[in-house]
Amino acid sequence: MVHMNTQYRTHMIGDLSSSLVGTSVRLAGWVHVVRAQSKIIFLVLRDYDGLVQCVVLPEHAEAFSVAKIVSQESVVSVEGTIVEAKQAQGGLEIQVTSLEVLSASNPELPIPVVERGGNETDQAIRLDYRWIDLRKPEKLLVFKIWTLFEEALRDFFIAERFLQIHSPKLMSSPSESGAEVFEVKYFERSAYLAQSPQFYKQMAMAAGFERVFEVGPVFRAEPSFTTRHATEFTGLDFEMSFIASHKDVMDIWSRAIASAMQRVADQYGEQIKQCYGIDVVVPSLPFPELTMEEAKALLSKRNITSEREGDLSPEEERALGGISKEKYGHEFIFITEYPASVRPFYHMRKEDDPNSTLSFDLIWKGVEITTGAQREHRYDILEAQAKEKGMKLDSIAHYLDFFRYGCPPHGGAGIGFGRMIMLMLNLESIREASYVYRGVKRLTP
Ligand code: ATP
Repeated sequence: MVHMNTQYRTHMIGDLSSSLVGTSVRLAGWVHVVRAQSKIIFLVLRDYDGLVQCVVLPEHAEAFSVAKIVSQESVVSVEGTIVEAKQAQGGLEIQVTSLEVLSASNPELPIPVVERGGNETDQAIRLDYRWIDLRKPEKLLVFKIWTLFEEALRDFFIAERFLQIHSPKLMSSPSESGAEVFEVKYFERSAYLAQSPQFYKQMAMAAGFERVFEVGPVFRAEPSFTTRHATEFTGLDFEMSFIASHKDVMDIWSRAIASAMQRVADQYGEQIKQCYGIDVVVPSLPFPELTMEEAKALLSKRNITSEREGDLSPEEERALGGISKEKYGHEFIFITEYPASVRPFYHMRKEDDPNSTLSFDLIWKGVEITTGAQREHRYDILEAQAKEKGMKLDSIAHYLDFFRYGCPPHGGAGIGFGRMIMLMLNLESIREASYVYRGVKRLTP
């Protein structure tokens, strides 16, 4: 039971049950729907938990006169008795004795909360009024699920003895590539917003933290208008020491996903089925995997080719999602051993094939959700690889220093939360999975 201030409410809608029939309660929330007839007014109240029907009769004259004029989406406090009502949702309703408007809504809503006729309002308009869009119970559910999913992942990492870090997002130089980075004014000079916590989680390996994770903002100045890119998103990153190869990273990440998905399925499986019409599938272990070479061979057998040599196009990722489903009955698939040409300088190369890296991407339902690798921890090799990729060594001098005073073999991965939630719930776009979306053309609200 949540401790609450009883001035406005004694219960939340989720607390109501048939064992409380006959009791007087005070509830508070939004007027979801109001239907006024001459002798009876039905008011559907909505709070964080859901909906309940409230009935206002003329014998409670004051409440009746308030209910007659209250506008939809006003915030109200309702007092009344719980009664059984077979026809009402949940089998209960409130016979209202008093009704107080705490904050009246302008009766002209810019977007509806209760959409009519099956078609949702245009997304761009909904995003302009995101706080009203989020009042829809199925939108609130997205963030209830995200909260649990994130908690479950944290629990998993903490149980595996990972430490949480919070690395700075203001950087003195563009971190990895220089492209796709936001430059900001920083007193008398420029600073750059972090494109990933990559360098700082590796610093934690040099600092002897051994295993770390971070949940934090990631900034990407990519002019993408796809359904899976945002210019600012919440990333989950982790990094671990004393690994034998990238396979150790894949192993822990697939176990983390399976355990978090189990929690989501247990707690929200039914609601997800009801709201989004999909089954949450808890993935079996181990996840299937293909090397890039194997993946390309399978794709070319199906006549799916792309210009991206050694890398995967969105179409190829989609096809691999299909192949995983068909061949392995699995929603996830790891693609490993990307060519060095398409990976950053810090990915470790294969000892017997320096053109190939100890790296992976994880694809879920045909979309990339994770990039990971074993990192190069040997200073000389790391420096040589950076030079070979044309990096300016002075701009990464602080980073390279991490590897000069003893740093264990290590690896890790980066994940986009919004993308995972979008895929989990089959949402049409990352915009729907972001609390407030940031894109090339969207900086408000
Ligand atoms: P993509 O190829 O899809 O642009 P990427 O290869 O640039 O992704 P990484 O730099 O490897 O992505 O980032 C790791 C993870 O972060 C990705 O797998 C994805 O889940 C997420 N991610 C990357 N870019 C974005 C973005 N612009 N918006 C939302 N999530 C992103």
